[in-house]
Amino acid sequence: MRTVTEIDRFIEENRDQFIKISDQIWSIAETRFEEYQSAELLCQALEAEDFQVERGVGGIETAFIASFGSGNPVVGILGEYDALSGLSQKKQSSNKESILQNGNGHGCGHNLFGASVFAAILAVKKMMIEQNLYGTIRFYGCPGEEGGSGKTFMVREGLFDDVDVALTWHPGNFTGMFTSTTLANYQVYFKFSGTASHAANSPHLGRSALDAVELMNVGVNYLREHIIPEARIHYAIVNSGGLSPNVVQSEAEVLYLIRAPQLNEVNAIFERVSKIARGAAMMTETEVNMKFDKACSNYIPNHTIGKLMQENLSLFSQPSYDEAEMTFANQMMEKITEDDLRSTISEVRRLYRTELPEQMKDELFFREVLPYYESTEIMFGSTDVGDVSWITPTAQFWGPCFIFGTPFHSWQLVSQGATSIAHKGMLYSGKVLAKTALDLFLQPQVIEDAKHELLEKRDGVPYVSPIPLDVKPSPLNQK
Ligand SMILES: [Zn+2]
Repeated sequence: MRTVTEIDRFIEENRDQFIKISDQIWSIAETRFEEYQSAELLCQALEAEDFQVERGVGGIETAFIASFGSGNPVVGILGEYDALSGLSQKKQSSNKESILQNGNGHGCGHNLFGASVFAAILAVKKMMIEQNLYGTIRFYGCPGEEGGSGKTFMVREGLFDDVDVALTWHPGNFTGMFTSTTLANYQVYFKFSGTASHAANSPHLGRSALDAVELMNVGVNYLREHIIPEARIHYAIVNSGGLSPNVVQSEAEVLYLIRAPQLNEVNAIFERVSKIARGAAMMTETEVNMKFDKACSNYIPNHTIGKLMQENLSLFSQPSYDEAEMTFANQMMEKITEDDLRSTISEVRRLYRTELPEQMKDELFFREVLPYYESTEIMFGSTDVGDVSWITPTAQFWGPCFIFGTPFHSWQLVSQGATSIAHKGMLYSGKVLAKTALDLFLQPQVIEDAKHELLEKRDGVPYVSPIPLDVKPSPLNQK
């Protein structure tokens, strides 16, 4: 218990430093692979604390690794700091009001994510020195999680090859381990090229790339009935060919995101989508070019590490809130719909097999720790933590940062991301990460058991990067 008290005291005593970084990253709000200032903030803070920092790892400018100690075990903690485009929002406001029109916003709480790992790793370093612990602790600065699969690129570059265990968390609106698997995915651009012409005077000379995009989408929408129910296909028209209806559009492009429980299933659907694209090109006498953007694997939760982390979730007190925070939470709750609340409750029930009462929708905060459940359910989303989990035992949890029912990637979440409510969850999560990392330094057998569990779950399936070697990470709007 001494370690718990010391971690708690250290993180609370230095809370202003961690909160400052989190709020700065919240304000900067940089999107995928352009998190230059956010990454630099963390790198400089880590260097000031005597960590060895390597910037631009794996050829990704905004990725970094900060480490302390030497030898094994190597415990890696993953931190993120990327924002989402179009979600600019004033902080602590219960009204939707942007700071900057079309600006970015931290709609997934990754500002808290990066800063909490900073808090955790500082606490770990302090305790490693005090307790004379042998091993290496690393902060993996992971950019481009939102639509970029930054970690999958980092895994492909071999950055996790010598890691014994990876730990992480995600800001959420309840506390519990992330024990479900997730969907693997591919993200691919389909660009059609045709012939421009005057749409009234010489339409017969035009070959419309926009028609091809539309026909492709119609074809894929018919495909949906004939794929496995767990799969998901989404698309966005990223170039509709221009704003003039009196021109036959010679260029048009659509971005597809294809998800399924296993990579081979994603690949099979991708092959069928590609056939539809070629069919659309044939129908319209246009040409189609495919460009692979990114991909990620399904997540393999490691229960050996997960159960250790679960114990630590209960060792630190859950955040409590003062009157001002409760007032704000009440105002914010007005902007969270009944449907959002019901959906959060049913998702918790499904993923944790727990009897969460319907009355939970009348509460402002989730104040307990969900019991551990070795879930066989799929969480219908994707994470690039998936690729890390294929090559090293990985555990992650949801930390209590937002009002219960707050939807992700929403203005409501951005608004809460730089409030004392979110800060409390961030500090709590940093403590849990630190304690789990320290436990691992002291319990080598757990690491061995965790590795054994991973081998068993992979069942001889080798890890192959889902991203082809020639594909580089790309920022938004650059293909
Ligand atoms: Zn996220």
